[in-house]
Amino acid sequence: MKITLIYDNTVHKKGLRADWGFACLIETEGCPKILFDTGANGKILLSNMKSLDIDPSSIEEVMISHNHWDHTGGLADILKANNTIKLYVPASFPDVSGAKEVVRIDEPLEIHDGVFSTGELSNIEQSLIIKTKKGLAVIAGCSHSGVTNILDAASQFGSPYALIGGLHGFREFDILKGLDLVCACHCTQYQSEIQYLYPGKYVDGGVGKVITI
Ligand SMILES: [Zn+2]
Ligand SMILES: [Zn+2]
Repeated sequence: MKITLIYDNTVHKKGLRADWGFACLIETEGCPKILFDTGANGKILLSNMKSLDIDPSSIEEVMISHNHWDHTGGLADILKANNTIKLYVPASFPDVSGAKEVVRIDEPLEIHDGVFSTGELSNIEQSLIIKTKKGLAVIAGCSHSGVTNILDAASQFGSPYALIGGLHGFREFDILKGLDLVCACHCTQYQSEIQYLYPGKYVDGGVGKVITI
């Protein structure tokens, strides 16, 4: 499975644009290409996609973690660039037009073989879970529902291996012990603490970063 960060607060590869927000592309065998979140600004999203050689028409599905501007800002533009997208939103999300199909997710759901949503946790946010040979990759937007809750919800599908995304004010660092890879990016406030505690697991994020599991 391959994850490419398209939108993040920092930049990993020269020539790409950093901006407050989050979006990543998930490519895994036997599953449509999924764009997880869309950043804050459609122009920056599409420009980073272009630089990374990701054609908007190749995106088959979009999953939105939660209804905050820094995750939904590029949604209208991506739906404008591609009108065949199947969109997954948390149940509380407002109406959206422009998608081929909109799936509202409340409870945990397997959307493809080995690909799951945690369901909408704490009435705000869903996370994406991908089963890999090494364990589960957990992709989080801002983790407003709490990293502990997200990892607990993921555990019903297997054993979490990697956590990638924004962790906000998360500081129950002990629960990261069981993971092998932590890419704490976007809004994560205690990045340096996580890096200090888990130098062997910590991976820098940034636009253009590719993580293969
Ligand atoms: Zn948020
Ligand atoms: Zn955010």
